[in-house]
Amino acid sequence: MVDMDKIVSLCKRRGFIFQSSEIYGGTGSCWDYGPLGVELKNNVKHAWWRDSVQNRADMVGLDASILMHPRVWKASGHLDHFTDPMVDCRACKKRFRADKLEDDVWVHYCEATKGNKFNIPGGEACKHCGANRTLCPACGKGELTEPRQFNLMFKTFMGPVEDDAAVTYLRPETAQGIFVNFDNVLQSMRMKLPFGIAQIGKSFRNEITPGNFTFRSREFEQMEIEFFVMPGTDEEWHQKWIDERFAWYPKYGIHKENIRLREHEKDELAHYAKRTADIEYLFPMGWSELEGIANRTDFDLKQHAQFSGRALDYFDEERKQKVVPFVIEPSAGADRATLAFLVDAYREEEVRSEKRVVLNFHPELAPIKFAVLPLLKKNDRIVETATRLTADLRKRWHSVYDDTASIGRLYRRQDEVGTPFCVTVDVQTVGDEKSPADEKVTIRDRNTMQQIRVPMSALETLMDRLMAGKWANTVQEFGLFKD
Ligand code: ATP
Repeated sequence: MVDMDKIVSLCKRRGFIFQSSEIYGGTGSCWDYGPLGVELKNNVKHAWWRDSVQNRADMVGLDASILMHPRVWKASGHLDHFTDPMVDCRACKKRFRADKLEDDVWVHYCEATKGNKFNIPGGEACKHCGANRTLCPACGKGELTEPRQFNLMFKTFMGPVEDDAAVTYLRPETAQGIFVNFDNVLQSMRMKLPFGIAQIGKSFRNEITPGNFTFRSREFEQMEIEFFVMPGTDEEWHQKWIDERFAWYPKYGIHKENIRLREHEKDELAHYAKRTADIEYLFPMGWSELEGIANRTDFDLKQHAQFSGRALDYFDEERKQKVVPFVIEPSAGADRATLAFLVDAYREEEVRSEKRVVLNFHPELAPIKFAVLPLLKKNDRIVETATRLTADLRKRWHSVYDDTASIGRLYRRQDEVGTPFCVTVDVQTVGDEKSPADEKVTIRDRNTMQQIRVPMSALETLMDRLMAGKWANTVQEFGLFKD
């Protein structure tokens, strides 16, 4: 498993993810997606949207506002319950989430070794003196205070007056925007149970201890589904969604051994939940939540109906009666998913005694699909042809032209950002005084580093095939090209 520092450094070096406001020292809790990062994350969101909304007859989409009526947060329970237990170090004044204290490395001054300082993995005891952590994990010296509840919602004011009446909150989840629009969607789209509403959007949480790169940040994006079902069918639908979502990540390349399901214990369940299962990924810091799939019962619709005074129910034609649907919520993080796809794709290999770093992205997620590379940048005909091919490919796929280094370096660069295919234009393609143009280009596959030589006229059709994962068949048809 790659360590997180390597991912952070690759992300910065190659334009995936930067620290927010870095030139001012950074915020440490928010992140900016660079030119390749925005492509990658957009591809993740697009794959999710297509699979969750466009390819299903029982789902529709929504894009609700981030700022909502403040009563929403009273009704949803966030004002009273959206808290994490917080402890302070009396010495260094750092703050920690009381329930996550054992997750991270802790500093220990060990008396058995004359007070030597050790960094001990989270949850483990000191190998020398056998002590467990009791003091501050960061400074190793201070006592911790008793836990206090800290509300994670960001407070702000709506309108020009900063008084209590104007207080509102940045949404800590996108779900509530869906619940308050339940009736709008039901009526306008003539939906029949079971049906779902999906939404992708920013959420904000004033996390006590943000960290592990984009895994826990204070501003992040969620991809949420609220799937409304007849009461009584909820358990079956919950299981269906757990299976569906668990199969989604491997479909886009996540190795099956790196994800698992974790069932919430009864005492861990949110106050509204009947059952919750998390999909966890083996991140560099250990197994951590990627997505939560909860059976939220009829809690949310009933709460909003009560607080707003508006009925939020469904008329069951068969039984000729009103029912309040139950809701199944698969709630994923776009940033956590993007990070998991990055970590999972990372490989270091030795090729001809040189290190090759490669991001083994699924072609659909890769930020750049094709890189067109001229073998000689001083040959006008090669450059012209390569530029024209790039423009043609760009009409359908995000493609780039690069002539800023030797071909070997260019391949390595594209491997490192996960470009599945490179197209090379050389002298034979365009011809010279000695031999006529063969009108063919080479295509190199990122994973196998194999090459084939194909007619330029067939490039678009072939690219369709290659994007669908058919490299081996295409090699069979054209034969391997050795340069
Ligand atoms: P955690 O226990 O890690 O704080 P949670 O159980 O509070 O997460 P949910 O409220 O279930 O998270 O949110 C649904 C999804 O939103 C999570 O599975 C995760 O992918 C994403 N998410 C939640 N909080 C953050 C955050 N601070 N940064 C990035 N993504 C987040």
